[in-house]
Amino acid sequence: NVGKISLEQIDALSAKSFPLCMRQLHKALRDNHHLRHGGRMQYGLFLKGIGLTLEQALQFWKMEFIKGKVDAEKFDKAYAYSIRHNYGKEGKRADYTPYSCMKIILNNSPSPGDYHGCPFRHSDPELLKQKLQLYKIPSTGINQILDLVKGMHYQLACQKYFELTHTTEDSGFSLNHPNQYFTESQVLLT
Ligand code: SF4
Repeated sequence: NVGKISLEQIDALSAKSFPLCMRQLHKALRDNHHLRHGGRMQYGLFLKGIGLTLEQALQFWKMEFIKGKVDAEKFDKAYAYSIRHNYGKEGKRADYTPYSCMKIILNNSPSPGDYHGCPFRHSDPELLKQKLQLYKIPSTGINQILDLVKGMHYQLACQKYFELTHTTEDSGFSLNHPNQYFTESQVLLT
């Protein structure tokens, strides 16, 4: 599916078809014109997984970063390398794969100022609740999600969020990857 997404589509896709972890990263990037390394890795590899080409990825990140404190020259020096690296064009030339839910949930917990991680695992439940309210999830649904979070069933909580935002009773898959979430969403919405 490489090259099937245009950069102009990403804002709309982030609201409709991104899991909460990636929606949060996208919003932070747009708001702050920056993401720290953990966020760039988690989000950058996800975008690669939904089909962004290397050229699109370089353009996407650069467009956003130069709206903030980074000028074009600094971007090319400090950030472009690691994007090419993620696409296997630098270093060991390994083709890096997007992170799974388990990897995001278990590794590299976010610190203040970070936006990576899994919001069901890493957000304060009260803030998670506010965010779900903002996203117009009905309160019964929010309570179901928070109960699953309390039981440490983070992926099931995410799957419940999927069902509530796609108005389907039974999502019919077992969630283990943010890119799987995206693909399943696109199947339902397109
Ligand atoms: Fe992202 Fe997976 Fe957490 Fe859902 S469960 S928000 S897809 S890491």
